Amino acid sequence: MKIERVETFVLRTPLGADTFYSSQAQFPERTSLLVRLTTTDGVVGWGEGGQYGPPEPVQSCIDDVLAGRLVAAPDASPGVIWDLLYSTTRDYGQKGPYIEAISAIDIALWDIMGKTLNTSVSTLIGGRFRKSVKAYGTGGYYSSAGFVPGRDLDELSDTVSGYAADGFGMLKIKVGLLDVRDDARRVIAVREALGDDFTLLADANHAYNSSSAIAMGRVLEDHGFQFFEEPVPPEDRQGYARVRSRLDIPIAGGEAEYTRYGFRDFIAGGCVDIIQPDICVCGGISEVQRIVALASTHNLRTIPHVWGSGIALAAALQVCAALPLAPYTHVPRPLQNEPVVEFDRTRNPLRDDLLTSEFELVDGYVRVPAGAGLGVDVDPAVVERYRVGGSDIRSTAA
Ligand code: CA
Repeated sequence: MKIERVETFVLRTPLGADTFYSSQAQFPERTSLLVRLTTTDGVVGWGEGGQYGPPEPVQSCIDDVLAGRLVAAPDASPGVIWDLLYSTTRDYGQKGPYIEAISAIDIALWDIMGKTLNTSVSTLIGGRFRKSVKAYGTGGYYSSAGFVPGRDLDELSDTVSGYAADGFGMLKIKVGLLDVRDDARRVIAVREALGDDFTLLADANHAYNSSSAIAMGRVLEDHGFQFFEEPVPPEDRQGYARVRSRLDIPIAGGEAEYTRYGFRDFIAGGCVDIIQPDICVCGGISEVQRIVALASTHNLRTIPHVWGSGIALAAALQVCAALPLAPYTHVPRPLQNEPVVEFDRTRNPLRDDLLTSEFELVDGYVRVPAGAGLGVDVDPAVVERYRVGGSDIRSTAA
């Protein structure tokens, strides 16, 4: 297969009154960088690159550097292109927008390969262990940067109770914006709202030094939380290892890590029990398979991080379908040894409206699209509604 056209799409939509906060930032808008590739045979594939950061640097890496190499390549198979693009940008790439751009292109190439062979991506990368994946809802963000206990705890309890009513049996909330003592009150409020049997997870977005993380981790352990995500900054590998050695709760992380090389050091440092590569960040579908193989040699679980549009979620579902149990048991147990998928519940029209089909929660599970490639179709009218930039690069031979 050969690529003759590379289009990038910068999508942006303000959230207005639905603006929310994590420990790191205000989220006044949702953005996505999408890429659409077209082969010389007219087959189209979609990909997405990046997560929290601005989409424009990722767009520039594709438009100004990678697209020319992609349309010049005689064979645009995903593995061949991954190696070409990574090797020829290594001296200035390795992490950040270049790898996010390669991720977008790689996802689109797998979509194309699946459509060319009339097979789902999950089948192409090894087969479907499961047709649907248990979902955990991500919510419980902060609605303001301050803290008014009565109002905020009531609002949080109502929000998480709403997710439970929607059918979620597993939920991740945010910690880290407030003092540990005030965040502990949020943790207790959520546990009391949902009861002892509800599976709860917490995410600090690397808000803490290791001492504060251990203090927060003890609160989470006392209230039966099942993992503690990004307790300390991703570069602080010793801090991760210290937190992990002092706590019993599983430590998760990796959404800000890139390629098998980054995960090699993250895993070797004894940082985590659960790795969370983001497929739109870590190097795409090609690279996440290498990262998963590396994690499996350490008997670690992989639970992909998911943020962004419906393309990101479709790619994650295809990968989750193909993940083996970690480790194998006769009866899989979601989260304990069977992969689960992150299902962000904050408002995002780019996730909910972009595709012609919806991802529905049925008995707590999301179905893996069964069609060819990623198994989803993009609604061009929605792309145009939210598009604020992008470009269209064609092979000069076309
Ligand atoms: Ca996170």
